[in-house]
Amino acid sequence: MNRPPISRRDLLKIMAALGVASQAPILFANPPKKRIGVALVGLGSYSRGQLAPALQLTEHCYLAGIVTGSPEKIPQWQERYQIPDGNVYNYDNMHEMANNPAIDVVYIVLPTGLHAQYSIIGANAGKHVWCEKPMAMNVAECEAIISACKKNKVQLTIGYRMQHEPNTRRLIAMATEKPYGKIQTITAQAGYRFGGNDHGWRSNAKLGGGAMYDMGVYPLNAARYTAGEEPLALTARTESTRALYKDVDETTIFSLEFPSGAIAECETSYARSSNLLRAQCERGWYELSPFQSYNGVRGQTSDGILLNQPIDNQQARQMDNDALAILNNSPILVPGEEGMRDIRIVEAIFKSAKEGKRITL
Ligand code: NAD
Repeated sequence: MNRPPISRRDLLKIMAALGVASQAPILFANPPKKRIGVALVGLGSYSRGQLAPALQLTEHCYLAGIVTGSPEKIPQWQERYQIPDGNVYNYDNMHEMANNPAIDVVYIVLPTGLHAQYSIIGANAGKHVWCEKPMAMNVAECEAIISACKKNKVQLTIGYRMQHEPNTRRLIAMATEKPYGKIQTITAQAGYRFGGNDHGWRSNAKLGGGAMYDMGVYPLNAARYTAGEEPLALTARTESTRALYKDVDETTIFSLEFPSGAIAECETSYARSSNLLRAQCERGWYELSPFQSYNGVRGQTSDGILLNQPIDNQQARQMDNDALAILNNSPILVPGEEGMRDIRIVEAIFKSAKEGKRITL
């Protein structure tokens, strides 16, 4: 298991125990390699179930801190991940991270309606920002995050884990290679059947609930990376059949028109399960199914080539790539602008559904 490099404070404690004078210069035979300290902001199911465990597998970053509004969660998190008291924050004092060099990155894992507010607080504290998908509620919020990160000279990356996944990267390359000729139709569907009667913030419009924001950005982002171009126009409709989703879309169906003539037929839903990405081309087809699960993304082509390169942990791969971009000051795979491109289209999807007409982008 990867551990953070020993801290200066811990080292001083050990030296004191050994009777070594604390004024003595600290000499490392092999200076520890710098690893990026990540603070998870929001300790809900994705942080608890995926990101914190993945941060135990990463090579270039580690779980350094937490930000939570639920004090009862703190002891367990501190104990499980050896998080020192000084690296524990709440939403009101999170800006004080500005004085904490152990934290390099804030990873915003809150309901979507809160992404902009806390991304901006993190950026203003001088921390790099990793923001979960979908980036924010609207383009204005996305622009505010991007400008806060630029002003503070920190990196901004959006948690689109699929773009780091090897089979997905193969499919993205096919948009340029065109092994089966021109792409004619893309099918992209991501949904699950929610059977309970409390869907938390996911049924709350102000917090960014609804299938389109939550799951719909998977087929939307996938349609764009599969086509390798940006849509020119779209048509969309939404459906809500259950009272739980009276304020948000339970299902959204949308169709994107690309400059090459390719059409993407997309769907997202809390009413039915789906997990398919398929490109139908002039001389064949290829698909990933599932295309957005945490594990086992795989697929095939019309001439029987399997797309099934394994990966240990998607989130660890994503965070290591993003940590390396910080360490090397190198280009980011999924920058804020990419998250904003989707949100611009999401806004048009809702407009088309509301007005019942085709929208030109
Ligand atoms: P969750 O409901 O399990 O957790 C949300 C957390 O936010 C909770 O700890 C909650 O206490 C906290 N919170 C703070 N203020 C809140 C408020 N006003 N209302 C509600 N909760 C509040 O949600 P989650 O599934 O962990 O999702 C969090 C984010 O992660 C979302 O943006 C979601 O889209 C994203 N996500 C991404 C993936 C992925 O695969 N990339 C998967 C799941 C979730």
